[in-house]
Amino acid sequence: MNYETVREVDPEAADALAAEVERQQDTLALIASENHVSEAVLEAQSSVLTNKYAEGYPGSRYYGGCEHADTVEQLAIDRARELWGAEYVNVQPHSGSQANMAVYLAMLEPGEKILSLDLTHGGHLSHGHPANFAGQVYEVENYEVDPEGGRLDFEAIRDHAGEFDPDMIVSGFSAYPREVDWEAFQAIADDVDAYHLSDIAHITGLVAAGVHDSPVGVADFVTGSTHKTIRSGRGGIIMADEEYGDDIDKAIIPGTQGGPLMHNVAGKAVGFEEALQPEFEAYAEQTVANAKALGAHLEKHGFSLVSGGTDNHLVLVDLRDSHPEVTGKEAEEALEEVGIVLNANTVPGETRSPFVASGIRVGTPAITTRGFDEDDAETVGHCIAEIIDNIGDDDVKGEVAEIVQELCEANPIYEDESEVLVS
Ligand SMILES: *Cc1c(COP(=O)(O)O)cnc(C)c1O
Repeated sequence: MNYETVREVDPEAADALAAEVERQQDTLALIASENHVSEAVLEAQSSVLTNKYAEGYPGSRYYGGCEHADTVEQLAIDRARELWGAEYVNVQPHSGSQANMAVYLAMLEPGEKILSLDLTHGGHLSHGHPANFAGQVYEVENYEVDPEGGRLDFEAIRDHAGEFDPDMIVSGFSAYPREVDWEAFQAIADDVDAYHLSDIAHITGLVAAGVHDSPVGVADFVTGSTHKTIRSGRGGIIMADEEYGDDIDKAIIPGTQGGPLMHNVAGKAVGFEEALQPEFEAYAEQTVANAKALGAHLEKHGFSLVSGGTDNHLVLVDLRDSHPEVTGKEAEEALEEVGIVLNANTVPGETRSPFVASGIRVGTPAITTRGFDEDDAETVGHCIAEIIDNIGDDDVKGEVAEIVQELCEANPIYEDESEVLVS
């Protein structure tokens, strides 16, 4: 698991890989969808299973030689069942977006209707944005969060559903800092006789650890990404009641995919095993505690948080009140210069373009994996506040960059960096 062998063949690629190890070590990943997987997951994901075609499912493949692929995929499935308590699990989606695509294909005819959260209010492209295939194949309308409180407004969603009469309602979000009431969505879906897809991409790990309420057994379909808070191999997952299993299986292959990325499935199996250990629950709890501490510090400093705080792994900062002259993009760029990597994000009632935006999204899954506690999270909050208060001030930049470096050095991502780093 070092890049020596790559270097012999391709020094340019080896340089970039080694530089990326250093970048991750020397910066704080506060992008809410990112995490740092273990060396065990890295090793599994770079295994020889990348060589294997295993179209089909364990015990029923189109090709021979699949006995070990079967073992690995079955491990991933069994562990996912244990983690989330689902009857049916498909671990083959190449990503969270592919997982959603397969559910749509399995359950909807072209032209049927999807009701989902607006992208600029915290939704996801794969929920039917006009630029995504789903926005072009299905008829999509969006609900919004309450522009004042920043929270889901179930009365408005119920009214919208009543008027639009959707065939599927999508819950689950990319930038929503609050606990989601899955039962409330399900009740609305029942009222209008729609399927309910709950996309827990961001919070898979929080749900597995019991730190966030679970939609499994409530919604008809639960999809997710497997590399965000759950910290396993990169990809997607679909969970459902057994009755939908055959349709979903077919919607993955041949519906939307060919051979599964078996090396990634191996990464999922290993990451799920890690998530079944008691330490993972502590990790998930700490991730939320860190987001709360970071958010509280920013609020104390005069920043506004969408919805006034957080119940999960992220805070969404609305800069319009405290720093009307600073755009999300400017904040993102200024922070990146001192080693704090996060993203500009639209806020409810956004007036700027999504690329510029008026907010930033700050997530704690990756720094918590590095070992950050609430005190460290407050220090990160302090750094963010200092930079945004003093955009362009080189002295402040220097001071904050130093604090960031100290935090990074005190919390190495990989214990033996030489194992992954050859420079
Ligand atoms: C991240 C995310 C996805 C899927 O992302 P991929 O990059 O395709 O794995 C889907 N839905 C939501 C809500 C997300 O945040």
